[in-house]
Amino acid sequence: TTTIGVLALQGDVREHRAALESAGARTTAVRRPEELAALDGLVLPGGESTTIDKLLHVFELAAPLRDRIAAGLPVYGSCAGMILLADRILDGTADQRTLGGLDVTVRRNAFGRQVDSFETDLAFDGIRSAPTPHAVPSVHAVFIRAPWVEDTGPQVRVLARIPAAGTPGIPEAAAGRIVAVQQGSLLATSFHPEISGDARVHELFVKIAKG
Ligand code: GLN
Repeated sequence: TTTIGVLALQGDVREHRAALESAGARTTAVRRPEELAALDGLVLPGGESTTIDKLLHVFELAAPLRDRIAAGLPVYGSCAGMILLADRILDGTADQRTLGGLDVTVRRNAFGRQVDSFETDLAFDGIRSAPTPHAVPSVHAVFIRAPWVEDTGPQVRVLARIPAAGTPGIPEAAAGRIVAVQQGSLLATSFHPEISGDARVHELFVKIAKG
């Protein structure tokens, strides 16, 4: 079986574990450096990236985690988790650090005050179609003070974007923005698939973690 850890310092750990288990993985909560050894993959949940950054250092997880990521550990970061995986942040706090690994620049709290949180359906490359096959599978995406990806390095594959300008319910400034990416065994989404009862993004990650 494939064992996926969920970083359990802050955030919606239980929802991620449920989604991963329904995707066929065994899961464990990760709080200590020793717990990294047994993992085939790790999920960094949403929450507050500045807080998780501080806790990663308090719990002495930051350095070993950075090393494991550099050595190829598959990691899926959602929302704050995406920020933690990014090599570069815009609108972070002055002393905010990331684990890095993903060659992207993310803008924190990018969607701004007026659209703080919103939901939309997104075409998402690489996931299974459900319930019936469509040309481009789509997911229902929930954004909560989410980041977006402002630019991507050459190895990064864009999996999902906010729909184009003019789509009903899509704020002008958000239109077309990149909200899901993959680079090798690193996966990141701006949104929270774990809270919409749809495990297909987690299925994709379990597949990545299996190699
Ligand atoms: N705004 C949060 C941050 O900057 C992320 C929000 C989330 O994870 N839902 O870390």
